Parts: sequence; C-alpha cells; structure tokens
Amino acid sequence: MGDVTRVTIVYDNSAFKTGLRADWGFSAFIEAGGHRMLFDTGRSGSILLSNMEKLGIEARDIDGVFISHPDFDHIGGLPDLLNENDGVTLWVPRSFPGCPAAREVVRIEGPRELYKGIHSTGEIDGIEQSLCIETQRGIVIIAGCSHPRMAHIIREASRFGRPYGIVGGLHGNRPESLKVFDLICATHCTLYKNEIASLYPEQYCEGGVGKVIVL
Ligand SMILES: [Zn+2]
Ligand SMILES: [Zn+2]
Repeated sequence: MGDVTRVTIVYDNSAFKTGLRADWGFSAFIEAGGHRMLFDTGRSGSILLSNMEKLGIEARDIDGVFISHPDFDHIGGLPDLLNENDGVTLWVPRSFPGCPAAREVVRIEGPRELYKGIHSTGEIDGIEQSLCIETQRGIVIIAGCSHPRMAHIIREASRFGRPYGIVGGLHGNRPESLKVFDLICATHCTLYKNEIASLYPEQYCEGGVGKVIVL
C-alpha cells in the first residue's frame, strides 16, 4: 500500500497537546487506504466528541469503527458516536455484548481483512482483537489494552506481514516482549512505560491525546 497512514490519538490517559482532555481510556482516528476509521471510543462520549472536534475530526466522515474489546474505557463513547453517525460499519469482537445501532455490525472471531491492507487479528485468546495496518515499513498494530500476551498479538499480526510498530495500551506486557518493533507508542494502560522508554530510546514515542503518528 503506497498511501500514507496517519494515526491520531483522540482519547488517552494523558494529553500530548494542551487544550485537549485527558481521561482514562483509549481511542485513535486512523486514516489509511482512503478510509477514515475510529479505533475504540474511550470512556465518555462527550470527551471523545469534544477532543475530535478540537482536532478537526468530523464524526460524519468516519466510515468504520473498530472495537478492540468491550471494556468500559474503550466502548463508553460508542453510543454518542453512533448518535452522530450510525452509517458506519462497526467491527466488534465476537464476545461483544448486545447489539449496537450501527448500519452494519460485523462480529469478528478469526483474522480477516476489513478494507484492503487493513486487517483484524481476530479475537485473540477470546479476549481482544487488534487492528493491523499494512504500511510501507511493515505492519503497524493498533492495540486497545493488549490483554492477550504480546507474543500472541505479534504471532497473529505476523500473518499480514512483518510487524513494524505498535500503538496503544500495552497493559502489563514486559518490555522484552516488544523487541521486534521499530516503533513503540506505549500509552493508555501501559504499566512499564518508563522501562520501555529506557530499553528502547530510539523506538519509543510518547502517546497522549493529540499525538499524530505518520507512517
Ligand atoms: Zn483500557
Ligand atoms: Zn481493557
């Protein structure tokens, strides 16, 4: 895929830029392959929509919403987002409870392509799915909390190409488990942020609301 991929963090435990609201949770706006997707939705719809507005992101322009796992800090903003735009395709993991009011709801169990060059790992260990984007440098993984073992996430992502980077919450995964990556944006619930930053000074990049990663 020759196009530039852009990931903008719109919901995170910390803010990268002033004027944006930090809150426990995660969401990222992704522009890739001519598509505009939202990955997770944070905890609060009003914070999500307010951060998106300040970053110039229109809910109406989004064509797909991807939910990594049904924790409150990843799905809390979903009803308000769908209230603004219910014409999206919504990909949820198989274990997602209830039936959200989107135009098209796709329950994901195994790995699958969502758009050309954009894939889901499938629900790993029955817990969580990650988004895998093909870029010129390799596969970039967008992760919600990384509740499954990092080795399993990397194994599943590897079916789409060479893992290049990871962006998102890495929870309690040990820093050593990240050595395959050239880019590590460890944010949200990541427990070992400082250790990761000192072990991988070249690869580490700070997350936070308003952070834009161009790939
Ligand atoms: Zn989380
Ligand atoms: Zn979680």
